[in-house]
Amino acid sequence: MPYEVPPLPYDYAALEPHIDEQTMRLHHDKHHQAYVDKANDALSGTDFDGQPIEEVLRNLSSLPQDKQAVVRNNGGGHANHTLFWESMSPSGGGQPSGGLADAINDAFGSFDAFKEQFEANGVAQFGSGWTWLVLDGGELKLTKTPNQDSPVLEGQTPLLGNDVWEHAYYLKYQNRRPEYLKAWWNVVDWNKVAERYAAARQTAAA
Ligand code: MN
Repeated sequence: MPYEVPPLPYDYAALEPHIDEQTMRLHHDKHHQAYVDKANDALSGTDFDGQPIEEVLRNLSSLPQDKQAVVRNNGGGHANHTLFWESMSPSGGGQPSGGLADAINDAFGSFDAFKEQFEANGVAQFGSGWTWLVLDGGELKLTKTPNQDSPVLEGQTPLLGNDVWEHAYYLKYQNRRPEYLKAWWNVVDWNKVAERYAAARQTAAA
């Protein structure tokens, strides 16, 4: 079963004014679709055809050598964008609560300090890439990756990621990436992040 772009769980305009409708249409329908098409094309006829994308990325070195780069880029693009759409909601924003809030405070000092470092990683990513909150060996960490590299490649579980490719923000924010990174907190779905955190901890404990 080839990969498909999952439908957006909200309307294209639902994240206005923080993310504009046209950006969402192009980003979801065109950019994500291109990653899916190229990943499907590369995996077709291999042993990994139909495997969950995270599984494929974890085992990238088992793929034929001439397919590894294209799957790293486009399979990574599929995994990253699938997580990205689900990380946002028109009723998002605010702060995490419960165990996730405690863990963020423990790891980074405060929610504000966490946000500051997450944004700083996004600003510091030269060219295209992502800024991440991940679970790594049971610990929360902040990282960034170039291109479409998934934290899964490093054995980490991504909990939250923001896309700092220009296609994610340029129509509305032009060169003002820091402004986009700040505005994005208004649409983050912390319930979804808490769900991922709970699931990742359960997997780590198993
Ligand atoms: Mn993107």
